[in-house]
Amino acid sequence: MTHPSTATRVVFLGGLGRSGTTLLERLLGELPGVAPLGEVVHLWARGVLAGEPCGCGRPFGACPFWTAVGEHAFGGWTRPLAERVLALRRRVDRTRRVLRIGHPDLDEYVHAYRRIHEAAARVAGASVVIDSSKHASLAHCLAEGGASIHVVHVVRDPRAVAHSWRKAVRRPEDGRPMTRWGPARTALHWSAQNVALDLLARRDRRGGADVQVTRLRYEDLIAAPEATLTDLAHRLGLRAEFPFVTGSTAHITTAHTVSGNPMRFAVGPVGLALDESWRSGAHRGLVAALTWPLRSRYGYHGVTA
Ligand SMILES: [Zn+2]
Repeated sequence: MTHPSTATRVVFLGGLGRSGTTLLERLLGELPGVAPLGEVVHLWARGVLAGEPCGCGRPFGACPFWTAVGEHAFGGWTRPLAERVLALRRRVDRTRRVLRIGHPDLDEYVHAYRRIHEAAARVAGASVVIDSSKHASLAHCLAEGGASIHVVHVVRDPRAVAHSWRKAVRRPEDGRPMTRWGPARTALHWSAQNVALDLLARRDRRGGADVQVTRLRYEDLIAAPEATLTDLAHRLGLRAEFPFVTGSTAHITTAHTVSGNPMRFAVGPVGLALDESWRSGAHRGLVAALTWPLRSRYGYHGVTA
């Protein structure tokens, strides 16, 4: 048997929230040999400390998958462990630090994630895990800390992203409203996250870590799901088998995702359709101006439509 530390491959989904990373994770998670983990960056606070539900519906502490992962990785989840990693995160895992990420605590921080990825692969019997943590800063930490990752950089038209961040949505985990941002703030975060993910492809890294970055446009995924997923699967070295996608509908099964947007709980047929309501929304011109020229480089042209 191959040791998991050399066999586990990590696909990291990066991008600003509301760009389609949760949907992409659910789709890739249906492929053979792939275990979708959700946004592992939030495991410490939302899973271990708050006991929010896993994608399977059980509280984190009662989910058999995550219980087994904790046992394998750390001899069990504990509050001091979660608080320690959260303290490390505040010191090393910040968007403003991505160009000077070296820090004495980096190795300990990255080691915690590597243990989770390896243990999850072992418990799931998978060779590939998906971590949809999204944050560019964590991707930079993992790369600088010597982890080999394949980053899928998911981009979506910033006008659609800004429209989504303005909506009032309740978190299924606790019924509280999800964070809402105004258009200028979304434009700023959209630019910062995407620039930081673009930089990832170019940075020098220690220890010979193999870091690849593949960019994917959410709109292309929705326009041609099977063709886009087939191409992506080939790039990621996954078996491109999509019997669960029929036209613009995907049939998805339960996944043990630790955190993510509400569609992580979806099971059964899921429609793959673009929300075009942003085209008549307010502020799209402001967002267009604030995100130029980067958005143009990703192929999002026009000013208001
Ligand atoms: Zn679960």
